[in-house]
Amino acid sequence: MTKSQYHIAVLPGDGIGAEVMQATQEVLQAVQARTGIRLVLDYQKAGAQHYLDSGVALPESTLKVCDAADAILFGAMGLPHVRGADGTEIIPQLDLRFHFDLYAGVRPIRTFKGLPTPLSSPKASEIDLVLVRESTEGLFYARGRGETREDGVYDTMQITHKGTKRICEFAFKLAERRAAQRGRAGRVTNVDKANVFASMALWRSIFESTAQNHPEVKTDSAYVDAMALNLVMKPWTYDVLVTENMFGDILSDLIAALVGGMGMAPSGDIGDKHALFQPAHGTAPDIAGQGKANPTAMVLSAAMMLEWLADRTGDTRLQDAATLIDAAVQEVFAAGSVRPFEVGGQDGTVAVTRAIVQTLSKA
Ligand code: ATP
Repeated sequence: MTKSQYHIAVLPGDGIGAEVMQATQEVLQAVQARTGIRLVLDYQKAGAQHYLDSGVALPESTLKVCDAADAILFGAMGLPHVRGADGTEIIPQLDLRFHFDLYAGVRPIRTFKGLPTPLSSPKASEIDLVLVRESTEGLFYARGRGETREDGVYDTMQITHKGTKRICEFAFKLAERRAAQRGRAGRVTNVDKANVFASMALWRSIFESTAQNHPEVKTDSAYVDAMALNLVMKPWTYDVLVTENMFGDILSDLIAALVGGMGMAPSGDIGDKHALFQPAHGTAPDIAGQGKANPTAMVLSAAMMLEWLADRTGDTRLQDAATLIDAAVQEVFAAGSVRPFEVGGQDGTVAVTRAIVQTLSKA
């Protein structure tokens, strides 16, 4: 249902999370002026620094605001030196995924004209794929449950019928949507390790049975190790990939590298009731505080949020806003006027943001 204003819970977090969120706020201001949409940004505390300050990483009050909001915008959280008793980092984004059942981690990447790619093939200009990562079970199920025995620690992978079915359905629907937008057949590639693990054999059988409900979508399956190779050798041949939580975690960094780095890779964590949008990158402690972070992934994540809200509400102004942001980002890089540090340029967060805002604000 169309609303006069949309409430967004904003969790900037740690390290460059806060830096790229500031940039995104400026872009959202510009797009509101262009489209007439009104976004009420409700900033909330959470993260590793907040844990150090208060003893709590993800306060109840923040969860309440997220629950009531139309969508959640998230920077990045976690600092290498802030750890719990079991030695793992403070990572509230994982808690949010489980708490709000955000089972579909959607990570789209594509080549941007004007930006270099580490691949030498001219075909690299055609990269346009989405990795769909199951985000509520898989090997991450073991988080906080690691079983300490005399000889070491055992982490268990969880693959359920329900969890696998719904993520496969999600991937097929996404492929159908992309096929309609692009005027060609869709394809879903399943990524697993069904040759070794019984859990993955179950995953594959559920993928194959789900495929039968979507006969117009082409399908194939690959083992995750072969996929690591193929994503470097011929990433332009893929459309939608669907995979288990941990494999998706690893492959999303790999695909981000193909198009310039983590600062170019947006993402959405989507459930049936709630959704959270955040860059695929972390807090990047190595560059935090230096003004070098590329804000593009966060900005494009905000565009994904607007598109998701447009789908849910039918408010076409939200889709216009998403399209305008996307077009502005493409135009900025195609013009060659800015080049982020991440890809060997000299432009930091402020310069990239300014260029996007200026392009967006042009009548
Ligand atoms: P996490 O596991 O929390 O997702 P990570 O271990 O994958 O995080 P990142 O924080 O994403 O690590 O950083 C990986 C590398 O990418 C670092 O060298 C970092 O500087 C770089 N990087 C990440 N995000 C950006 C960005 N927005 N702009 C420039 N460089 C970035």
